[in-house]
Amino acid sequence: MPYESKLALSLVPYVAGEQPKGRTFIKLNTNENPYAPSPRVEEALRGLTDSLRLYPDTEATRLREAIARVNGVAPENVFCGNGSDEVLAFAFAAFFAGKRLVSADITYSFYPVYGQLFGVDYETVPLRDDFTVDVDGLMRGSPIALANPNAPTGIFLPLSGVRRLAEHCHAHDAVLLIDEAYAAFAPENAVPLLAEYDNLLIIRTFSKSHALAGMRVGYAIGAPRLIDALRRVRDSFNSYPVDRLAQAAAEAAVLDTAYTAESTRRVIAARDKCRAALLAAGIDVLPSATNFLFVRADAEDAAPVQQALRNDGILVRHFSAPRLKPWLRVTVGTEADMEKVTDALIRHIRHS
Ligand code: PMP
Repeated sequence: MPYESKLALSLVPYVAGEQPKGRTFIKLNTNENPYAPSPRVEEALRGLTDSLRLYPDTEATRLREAIARVNGVAPENVFCGNGSDEVLAFAFAAFFAGKRLVSADITYSFYPVYGQLFGVDYETVPLRDDFTVDVDGLMRGSPIALANPNAPTGIFLPLSGVRRLAEHCHAHDAVLLIDEAYAAFAPENAVPLLAEYDNLLIIRTFSKSHALAGMRVGYAIGAPRLIDALRRVRDSFNSYPVDRLAQAAAEAAVLDTAYTAESTRRVIAARDKCRAALLAAGIDVLPSATNFLFVRADAEDAAPVQQALRNDGILVRHFSAPRLKPWLRVTVGTEADMEKVTDALIRHIRHS
């Protein structure tokens, strides 16, 4: 008998993007924000050291109130966790364990990992040839989980499509999970549908739009019944997932809406400028409603272009799945970063 459980031996874990040590890179491989968090975050963190001897507020009350206020919902509609990855994991346990879940073949690659961890029968529906979501295809079953905008494509499914999925899941007494990690960079989000659908769970993160990837804070918005189920799972695992520093930092960040709006505007402008320049150079780039671009860097395999960029000091992400292999995912950095990566991509793709 091995020491490990059958489960531990059978897991196929998620592989996160590289966090380089030593050499300094232009780091465009994990969709972090190129700008610092709101200056109010530093103020909020000052003087908290003494309070660290006490456990944090398990309900993250002040943070939930702040998130609720900014999103026009009630605190009872909000749940906070240690990064949206944890909130996603809790949601898989709370709503999908032991069920057949439908998702897209190309989406956030953590979903099948959680599926395996929590005994979910995970069924995938291919994206269409243009990488848009096949809404009718997804409706072959329920519950459904989808990232919108999707990753790593960056493509946004308009609200009319999300509404059809919510309606379908509602008719089958099932949850629709919409992962809105990148919704701050998109034209609309699913919050307006919450008033109509008590089976809709929206999951968000502070890692991208609020520049707090290092703090690990994520949240869910949904009907109180869904929030209660997440709480039950949390309290069966770790009662204090969001520490004191993270609660204070995220509260300050979410309330500084003017700062977030401005840094988001800059990211969107740099994204659209880079995409236009690549398209003008004859390079295929999917439309993006996120803080990254999905760039076709080779007819077959973009790995050599990724390596050439690395040699130039620029990190981007490559996925080895068959349909994704020709593409690179490039996080949107500062204006200066984007000028460099645009030039480098044009140079290396022409010569590959
Ligand atoms: N959802 C999607 C679609 C993502 O790309 C990411 C970032 N890797 C996450 C969730 C997780 O974000 P975090 O755990 O940093 O909140």
